[in-house]
Amino acid sequence: MILSESPEANRFIAKVDREAQRLSVQLLFSLKNDVMALDTREATDGYFTPPEDDSPGFLVVPIGKQEQEWLHTLAHEYVHMCQWFRDDDVWVKWRSYNCDSNYYRLEEATEHEACEIIMKYKLPCGDAPKRAASYLRRLKRGGGSKPLAVE
Ligand SMILES: [Zn+2]
Repeated sequence: MILSESPEANRFIAKVDREAQRLSVQLLFSLKNDVMALDTREATDGYFTPPEDDSPGFLVVPIGKQEQEWLHTLAHEYVHMCQWFRDDDVWVKWRSYNCDSNYYRLEEATEHEACEIIMKYKLPCGDAPKRAASYLRRLKRGGGSKPLAVE
């Protein structure tokens, strides 16, 4: 899959695709700006849903925006797939009880790991830690709708 002019990005995309296939997860790119989440039916920057019974999982990333942004989203959703696979505490807690603080903790851990991955694979994401911090600030404020109840 050649989606980027950056060889590092294309190598990472190919890696995510291979791992996703092994886990019965379909990696999909949408040409739009955002996609609708399966659970909340709200527009989102991307999402991951694990496979269940007969249905495959999905890792969906819209690429109709700046490349540095959607590559960051790809790293973020890839981390969610890894969290699901390794039964990560933050993932398990959020899946068993989806409250604001569990969601915030999940997203905080995810952005932390996504930034490490962006460094490790040299993805051209610009200032990823800055973007992560501003996303988490927005999340804490509730993104314009209701504020998250994070203690
Ligand atoms: Zn997330």
